[in-house]
Amino acid sequence: MKSFNYHAPKDVKEASKLASSNSAFLAGGMTSIPSMKLGLATYKDVIDIKKISKLSGIKVSAKSIKIGATTKHADVASSKDVKKAIPALAKLAGNIGDAQVRNRGTIGGSISNNDPSACYPSACMALNAVIHTNERKIDANKFFKGMFETALKKGEIVEAVEFAIPEKADYQKHPNPASRYAIVGVFVAKHKGGVNVAVTGAKSCVYIDKDLSGKLSSDFSSGAIEGMELDDSEMNSDMHASSEYRANLVSLYAKKAVEAC
Ligand SMILES: Cc1cc2nc3c(=O)[nH]c(=O)nc-3n(C[C@H](O)[C@H](O)[C@H](O)COP(=O)(O)OP(=O)(O)OC[C@H]3O[C@@H](n4cnc5c(N)ncnc54)[C@H](O)[C@@H]3O)c2cc1C
Repeated sequence: MKSFNYHAPKDVKEASKLASSNSAFLAGGMTSIPSMKLGLATYKDVIDIKKISKLSGIKVSAKSIKIGATTKHADVASSKDVKKAIPALAKLAGNIGDAQVRNRGTIGGSISNNDPSACYPSACMALNAVIHTNERKIDANKFFKGMFETALKKGEIVEAVEFAIPEKADYQKHPNPASRYAIVGVFVAKHKGGVNVAVTGAKSCVYIDKDLSGKLSSDFSSGAIEGMELDDSEMNSDMHASSEYRANLVSLYAKKAVEAC
């Protein structure tokens, strides 16, 4: 690992000021530290945001749940409030990686990194999430831009993620047997105004499957999407699953999610 300057700012303003094109924020370090150790990333400045208390915690209101950026996956998974308001979100967090990852990894780090196989981005898209940063509020459908790419600008810090509480929801994942990242993950959420089916792992970036969402908005039953064949032309193909297999998994897991709602 190359040497770097370590900073522990006391608040978000100071953290943002320290950022440059050659810096990283340190949340749980679950992606940034291995990347630095393996030489995949080098930074001049590492800005530790773990101790900024404003960034952590869970708040529930009648219509939404707001989760602070440095809240760990284990805390979301075990939160009584999350389990009551959006059980699918607690389930998603409880199936991320292993116990070590869940006790270090954070929701803000997960969405800022925007790994194409990460679980939280699908929850953000399906649950019409709003990403609160130190500069603005960004709708989830404008936040995830592409593989490992988001709408965040230099020095912009995710402060919290606010999820709309749906009528029903479920998350189904086909996990990589080693890491537990999603080979395919499907988050189905039924809101008053319609159904969102968000998919992770299948393409280079999380997306809403419009065909599945449309069918389920007209008829929220697994029969409505039974055997539906999806276009696999833009889907990932690798040693874990072909594009054709992934397309089949998306359709199958959407059906399983509806049945579990
Ligand atoms: C073995 C293993 C298995 C995993 N399995 C899964 C899985 O099954 N599902 C899944 O979804 N994920 C999985 N992950 C990812 C993990 O859950 C973390 O969320 C992810 O690695 C990000 O780590 P972190 O939160 O510690 O952020 P860090 O590593 O500290 O930061 C990651 C990046 O995000 C930026 N960042 C962090 N916080 C903020 C912020 N508040 N505002 C702006 N930028 C920020 C940093 O600058 C950095 O570039 C796995 C990771 C590992 C190592």
